[in-house]
Amino acid sequence: MLRRDKLNYYLDIADTVLNRGTCLRRNYGAVIVKHDEIISTGYTGAPRGRKNCSDLGYCLRTEMNIPSGTNYELCRSVHAEANAIISASRRDMMDSTIFLVGREYSTGEYVENTDSCIMCKRMIINAGIKDIVIRDDKENYRQISVEKWIAEEKLPKELSKSINEEEGI
Ligand SMILES: [Zn+2]
Ligand SMILES: [Zn+2]
Repeated sequence: MLRRDKLNYYLDIADTVLNRGTCLRRNYGAVIVKHDEIISTGYTGAPRGRKNCSDLGYCLRTEMNIPSGTNYELCRSVHAEANAIISASRRDMMDSTIFLVGREYSTGEYVENTDSCIMCKRMIINAGIKDIVIRDDKENYRQISVEKWIAEEKLPKELSKSINEEEGI
């Protein structure tokens, strides 16, 4: 058997982590790695003690046909990236890499062209994480420098324009 390359190895782990996710729309798994050590993991799930989408039998974002990229507050879940970040110390996360994999609940397929949401991007930047590796499929991924997100910052007006355009509003 061919030896698995290192980035896909961590993505495979994130892919396993997401199986613990509780959202009925999409589940993500995140793994933060520094110096070849896993610092923490996170998956999509409601705040501790609160009911998950899977307990209720629905995700409000799906029920209400909320377009992708908007109204995240309507899903009960804390995002995988956020859960991984709150399980680690900032000192450990400085210059680390976060691996992210997302799957559609209904089909089990990888979320196409996925990306962290704007709130998670803010947290990843402030956590001091250096790179993000996002899985496109079993073999392919995109590696993005968090520096690039900072440089690409959209100002509030541009952001609302681009969300509207994306959603065809
Ligand atoms: Zn949900
Ligand atoms: Zn997010």
